[in-house]
Amino acid sequence: MAELRSKVPQGPVAEKWTRYKAQQNLVNPANKRKLDVIVVGTGLAGASAAASLGELGFNVSIFCYQDSPRRAHSIAAQGGINAAKNYPNDGDSIYRLYYDTIKGGDYRAREANVYRLAEVSNAIIDQCVAQGVPFAREYSGLLENRSFGGAQVSRTFYARGQTGQQLLLGAYGALSRQIKEGQVKMFNRHEMMELVLVDGKARGIIARDMITGKLERHSAHAVVLATGGYGNVFYLSTNAMGSNGSAIWQAFRKGAFFGNPSFTQIHPTCIPVHGDYQSKLTLMSESLRNDGRIWVPKRKEDAEKIRNRTMKANQIPEENRDYFLERRYPAFGNLVPRDVASRAAKERCDAGFGVGDTGLAVYLDFADSLKRLGKAVIEERYGNLFQMYEKIVDENPYENPMMIYPAVHYTMGGLWVDYELMSTVEGLFVTGEANFSDHGANRLGASALMQGLADGYFILPYTLQNFLAGQIKVPRISTDKEEFAGAEKAVADRIDKLMSVKGKRSVDHFHKALGKIMWEYVGMGRTADGLKKAIGMIRELRKEFWKDVRIPGKATELNPELEKANRVADFLELGELMALDALNRNESCGGHFREEYQTEEGECLRNDQEYMYVATWEYRGEGQYEMHKEPLVYEELEVKQRIYK
Ligand SMILES: Cc1cc2nc3c(=O)[nH]c(=O)nc-3n(C[C@H](O)[C@H](O)[C@H](O)COP(=O)(O)OP(=O)(O)OC[C@H]3O[C@@H](n4cnc5c(N)ncnc54)[C@H](O)[C@@H]3O)c2cc1C
Repeated sequence: MAELRSKVPQGPVAEKWTRYKAQQNLVNPANKRKLDVIVVGTGLAGASAAASLGELGFNVSIFCYQDSPRRAHSIAAQGGINAAKNYPNDGDSIYRLYYDTIKGGDYRAREANVYRLAEVSNAIIDQCVAQGVPFAREYSGLLENRSFGGAQVSRTFYARGQTGQQLLLGAYGALSRQIKEGQVKMFNRHEMMELVLVDGKARGIIARDMITGKLERHSAHAVVLATGGYGNVFYLSTNAMGSNGSAIWQAFRKGAFFGNPSFTQIHPTCIPVHGDYQSKLTLMSESLRNDGRIWVPKRKEDAEKIRNRTMKANQIPEENRDYFLERRYPAFGNLVPRDVASRAAKERCDAGFGVGDTGLAVYLDFADSLKRLGKAVIEERYGNLFQMYEKIVDENPYENPMMIYPAVHYTMGGLWVDYELMSTVEGLFVTGEANFSDHGANRLGASALMQGLADGYFILPYTLQNFLAGQIKVPRISTDKEEFAGAEKAVADRIDKLMSVKGKRSVDHFHKALGKIMWEYVGMGRTADGLKKAIGMIRELRKEFWKDVRIPGKATELNPELEKANRVADFLELGELMALDALNRNESCGGHFREEYQTEEGECLRNDQEYMYVATWEYRGEGQYEMHKEPLVYEELEVKQRIYK
């Protein structure tokens, strides 16, 4: 069995990273030229890593399944990126960002990693400004900040509602420079299908050229997975349609442990589901909660009239509105963390106060801010988001409040990594949303971009180098080795198996069915009975999939149905592991809400005695998983109940 060693350095939490950097092993320039690294993923985590490793002098190959690295899902990120610069002088510090992140994650994250994240956050902003990322500025020219959930300070840097796009263009610029220098080789339209291990170490991948269907072997001294999150296991989510969990699932099957698979973030401000044929949900950025106020009618009869379309939101007088977040959480108000806001919205809707045709929506209202700030300011801050809302819902959000409802958005779970971001497979590193690290049971808004870029620009260049220092005597890995041949054959066999099912149902049919099970039983509210039911249903669905899926076309050509089928086959296994993990954790924490474990006020009831650990799962064959625990020890912070009142 692989060993679960977090490798957290000794010493006070604020000194650990400095000590690590002082003591890590380095590789000299001549040896760097002899060492190869594969990076899978060109989102913020992958592009920043490949650019930095290329700049250091390693030979990097980078892969993505899109036609351009710029199309990675990171481009969709809207609201902003956190850093502890304290520009507004409102009391922020590295310590406070670290504290807010640990508390936000409901004390289920590794303390040393979170401190390091807060520590490097400021350097990220400097790096991105140097790249020319056009962050919003105040009139005086200084970078502007806004607030995000779970914090009482303003520490979020942003570029309108397009922060991810601008950051990715910055990272892409850095990556392109290395591509031109010949340090990085780019493989667009290549999907990783299998991890190759040689003597137990990650030494390469099998990739499929998605245009020709040809399988290719690629070798390296180390492999980095920056392949994003797996929220699309729920079918409907705010993630890009292509986002999937297959790369990390392949690594899981090869021995990389999976950390906290059930920890999923449900974002409170998304455009509600509006029909059965929908395949995507749209996020309305959390930044909107800076100026928008969330409410539902106080009286059920008003809510009913709104649902019947006999009344409009603006006809409800102020005294008949329930600003339920401000009422329940006066200290944080509309800026409580996402899990708290999502549950509160669900509670109001379940109690019969929901609006919209389905009753599964609450209002996000800008009337006050429009009066206070004027339309021009609101437009400058959120113009593109308002426009997106109007295009989708066909209502003008400057005149009527937006309607929003929680939706699956982010996965805190992912491959388990140690302090060096290495998985339990030696030489396999995992960064960005693909790893389990840093956010515990709930990620704070604007912290994913921070983590992905921290991993790629500032952490991996040190920790991966430390690993590679031990590989300088290892000659370039030949892809003629039997391990590569075996892995390639396994991929070819699986593709054959999928193509030869020749059933009657589309891939989407199964994906949608899985999504319904996941949302119903492994979504915002979970119970032991529901989770057991889900496990049985997923197993049945998986059997049906392998009997009845239909993939038109051939494997030797561009075949989007085959691509989807591969990913859905993995989701059908991953969904079961998520349910198992949620069933194991007999407590509520962050986004993991087990209905049996709640306080009288409906808040999460943690069980620190028994569950203060990362649940890491080991693959023991399909549907057979063994759990190992990484205990969480807080040396610096006092562990408390999480209160936002
Ligand atoms: C709508 C939306 C808005 C958001 N807004 C914010 C925000 O304002 N602030 C914030 O901090 N966070 C935000 N997030 C979260 C954040 O965008 C993501 O967590 C982050 O961008 C993930 O980056 P990543 O580099 O880890 O992965 P991704 O950007 O998802 O990139 C994954 C990469 O891996 C590649 N890949 C995956 N599998 C394979 C494979 N098998 N073979 C080859 N390549 C593969 C893909 O091609 C892609 O290049 C938002 C998320 C959404 C959905």
